[in-house]
Amino acid sequence: MPIQIVMERIDGVDLSCTEVFCDACGQRIVQAAEGMYAWWYECTTDTTDGALVYWHKQPCSRPAEAAEQARRGPGWHLLWQELRTLPDYLRANLEEGG
Ligand SMILES: [Zn+2]
Repeated sequence: MPIQIVMERIDGVDLSCTEVFCDACGQRIVQAAEGMYAWWYECTTDTTDGALVYWHKQPCSRPAEAAEQARRGPGWHLLWQELRTLPDYLRANLEEGG
């Protein structure tokens, strides 16, 4: 489960912290620059299965990508973004309502 609520005590205060965990190693992605999210695109049908994966860029992403590429086959390509961009893209796809 890559996005989780974790209870942390910071400066004596209990906080519910939204945190991201790497799908490859299971460790928390702490630094924005070390995280990425990715999805698979099937180029012959212009489709995606819609699933996102969250990885440390290094050392986790390359072996995880290679294993998944071997499982999916040559028509699939990995697309990715820096993890720091995710909140803005999510916000852009949420409608503000009354
Ligand atoms: Zn990792």
